[in-house]
Amino acid sequence: MRQSHLFTKTRKEAPADETSISAKLLIRAGFVFKEQAGVYSMLPLGVLVQNKIVAIVRQAMNAIGGQEVAMTSLQDPELWKTTDRWDDAKVDNWFKTKLKNDTEIGLAFTHEEALTRIMRNYVGSYRDLPKFVYQFQTKFRNELRAKSGLLRGREFLMKDLYSFTKDTADLEAFYERAAAAYTQIYATVGLGEVTHRTFASGGVFSKFSDEFQVVCDSGEDTIYLSSKGGMAVNKEVYTDDILAELGLQKSDMREVRAIEVGNIFKLGTKYSAPLGLTYTDEHGTAKPVVMGSYGIGVGRLLATIIEVHADDHGMIWPAAVAPFPVHLVRLGDDPKVSAAADNLVAALAKRGIEVLDDDREMSPGQKFTDSDLIGIPTRVVVSAKTLAAKKLEVKDRATGAVEMMTTPQLLKRLKA
Ligand code: ATP
Ligand code: MG
Repeated sequence: MRQSHLFTKTRKEAPADETSISAKLLIRAGFVFKEQAGVYSMLPLGVLVQNKIVAIVRQAMNAIGGQEVAMTSLQDPELWKTTDRWDDAKVDNWFKTKLKNDTEIGLAFTHEEALTRIMRNYVGSYRDLPKFVYQFQTKFRNELRAKSGLLRGREFLMKDLYSFTKDTADLEAFYERAAAAYTQIYATVGLGEVTHRTFASGGVFSKFSDEFQVVCDSGEDTIYLSSKGGMAVNKEVYTDDILAELGLQKSDMREVRAIEVGNIFKLGTKYSAPLGLTYTDEHGTAKPVVMGSYGIGVGRLLATIIEVHADDHGMIWPAAVAPFPVHLVRLGDDPKVSAAADNLVAALAKRGIEVLDDDREMSPGQKFTDSDLIGIPTRVVVSAKTLAAKKLEVKDRATGAVEMMTTPQLLKRLKA
């Protein structure tokens, strides 16, 4: 992609009301546009990153047997009354609106009810189970505080998966597979070392859930990390009883701030029972399906990657989610430089390596500042100087190390 074609531009200042590092940088670099508090549009560079995260999550969900659907945002109140989740006194973050005829309609903040009703049409016997269904979908939540950019949106992209099993043994087996898939996803996007599976409240079946928390000073949550084995406990459930149950010792626990990037729940029959999602077992007895739900905030994850991977100059994208693997910076208007840069782009394209190609007429200083802000992992400079040296100038955004190398050496490095 030629940078001169990109309609977005970088800017020096972020909106004064943004406090989070990720929101400031994503806005300044032109990845997102702030519509209003908690409401962000994704711009071309943001979409590229979001698509990479979605692809990583999708692959992991397919690998554990997930089937992808795309449900609607508009929700029928009658469905939600069945489970007593329509009343604003019970659920305080609904966005509700009205049809022309004055009947109410809701914008989904989650999809247990909707999917359970769909599954009722297809699950009849134990032979139809287990099933695992997921989607990537915009969720609407009327959050009280929306001050942390994409970390807490009022409209945001979530991956939500729901498991339908015949009993708790099957639920628990799948739950562990989902947890392992989550751990792998966070590692792939560059958060492996800072993400902890965290014992938390909120489950229905067991009263507890597992959160995936990224240790980060800007996080809203407080968790306690064990120095032994990496276990973590959310402050909400940090009691002597729970610690004893988990075999943890208070003296080994360290308090840290963290961002919740995922949450998995054992729902049991909370939704299947009121909504009548049952199956007949081997003996012909009707039983409610046992469910679980598994969420990842895609927008929050994208912002969290930047909360963790940034410096004073800008963002530092991990390779797996970077908008492009290579940022080519052309310097000067020498036709030989242009020809060499074009050749490099072609050589990379031949190997499927996409490039953000800074072909703009701008000072080297401005180009370098923009490159650091955008945070593509590898920056390659082609200039009169590099041509004279018959090499490319290659900078590693993460370490700041600059090296002169040939095109074959660059290709080898990008392959690694
Ligand atoms: P939180 O405790 O942060 O309010 P939650 O427990 O209500 O979130 P879930 O309903 O479990 O969240 O949603 C699954 C995932 O969606 C969360 O783990 C989080 O990563 C993401 N998420 C939840 N609320 C938001 C939001 N307002 N903006 C962005 N992502 C969100
Ligand atoms: Mg939560």
